[in-house]
Amino acid sequence: MAVTGAPAWPNAAEWTGMIYSEGWRNAESRTRHVIEPATGEPLAEVGMASPADVERAGARAARAAPEWAATTVSERVELLIRAGDALREHRAHVREWIVRESGGAPAKGEYEIAAGLAQLQHAVGLASRPPGEVLTPQVPGGTSLAWRVPLGVVGVITTWNAPLLFAMRALAPALALGNTALLKPDPLTPVSGGVLVAELFREAGLPDGVLHVLPGGAQTGRAVVADRHVAMVSFTGSTEAGRQVARVAGEGLKRVSLELGGKNSIIVLEDADVEAAATAGAVSSFGYQGQACVAAGRHVVHADVVEAYTEALVRQADALPTGDPSDEGVAIGPVINEQQAARIERIVDESVAAGARVLAGGTRDGLFYRPTVLDRVERTMPAFTEEIFGPVAPVIPFHSEDEAVEVANDTAYGLTAAVHSGSVPRATAVARRLRTGMVHINDVSAKDAANAPFGGMGISGNASRIGGTASLELFTQWRWMTAPGVS
Ligand code: NAD
Repeated sequence: MAVTGAPAWPNAAEWTGMIYSEGWRNAESRTRHVIEPATGEPLAEVGMASPADVERAGARAARAAPEWAATTVSERVELLIRAGDALREHRAHVREWIVRESGGAPAKGEYEIAAGLAQLQHAVGLASRPPGEVLTPQVPGGTSLAWRVPLGVVGVITTWNAPLLFAMRALAPALALGNTALLKPDPLTPVSGGVLVAELFREAGLPDGVLHVLPGGAQTGRAVVADRHVAMVSFTGSTEAGRQVARVAGEGLKRVSLELGGKNSIIVLEDADVEAAATAGAVSSFGYQGQACVAAGRHVVHADVVEAYTEALVRQADALPTGDPSDEGVAIGPVINEQQAARIERIVDESVAAGARVLAGGTRDGLFYRPTVLDRVERTMPAFTEEIFGPVAPVIPFHSEDEAVEVANDTAYGLTAAVHSGSVPRATAVARRLRTGMVHINDVSAKDAANAPFGGMGISGNASRIGGTASLELFTQWRWMTAPGVS
């Protein structure tokens, strides 16, 4: 399979078929083609790291750790700033990779770049935060100090739907706080989630050995989690894989941060601005083809306004141009692969067979699944119970606030939600009753910010959060020291 027409940066001759571990090097055994979902054509060829590659990279990252931890704050801050400069300089190529490798519209590429930059900027602040506390000594005149130290080698495992952002939200704080890292991007997006990240930090001057990029599948991921040099794992992906990661990390007594799936509700009260709510609903369910953990998987709408809301949602769904996102004006690209398309199709078809009604979409042309609106959705149907990860908006009417809260909380997931009302205090009161790690008033469900603790309740994670000061907790550990008679 010949690879042609890939974006011009970074120079493919340097990294094709390679992994990044103290520079680009041949993977021990295998390479893999990356397929552009919109065309089905090969876009790149990357090295696939074997467990032996992981072992070697882990040992090198452990060797590099003391020296990196001993760098000054200003050295690490400068590194982060230069990585941001590199991302800005290569912005157009990075966007093209995201569009072509993950099938997102250019706006999705821009969003990931902006969010990645925000992570680097926020990490600058983390690096220079006071590291600890002066404690009251137990003996008069003694010294008692507690401060945060790096964990050592951090393992970062990411999924394909926002691969640059997921890498940056873990690596920027982890490196800023003095850790070294192994990054294992998803095999579907190893360039935007791995090769580009390696190149950005290499251009920024990150010393060899501090960051290793090891594309691979579940076996490579398991090797990262199990590696004896890896002290902590930051994982973004499905709840099913998260459980496996937690089991292996538990065996090694490692800290693990799990950012997993969601079945998120957008609740629309009867006094809401229905058009604005429907726009937020459309963005939350159809943006990047609904392939987001924070996508709206349930539109829970008061019976008095459900008709108007559904009508507006259908209008918006029907107006979204579907096609190759490299073509101008396209809003909805392909879903990531046939497995994902078939899964969406199954969920919609089974729900329709059980009595749901398709008001928009419900069909696909290969990987191009039309934005879909379903009503008459019952709580037993797959469209209600399962995370869809596709451009599908199931609408469920309610008659009281209690019922709305009950419908939204009727899931083991607990990632995010949105509540729409003409009264912010009223929406806030409903929001407080939702069992989710994040909730937004009169807004989309799909939000993130570098300074916010991102994460979910229930099976959306393990009560860990990433972002803001949560990242300070995540990527360091406390050390306590006492000394007699110093002060
Ligand atoms: P997945 O769970 O199959 O894979 C994710 C990553 O984990 C990949 O890199 C994969 O190779 C690796 N992996 C798989 N099994 C592993 C194992 N046993 N040990 C170590 N690594 C392993 O991902 P998916 O199902 O394609 O991703 C979509 C899911 O991710 C959805 O459920 C979505 O909601 C969730 N997600 C969550 C967040 C969040 O921040 N909460 C963000 C994006 C996606």
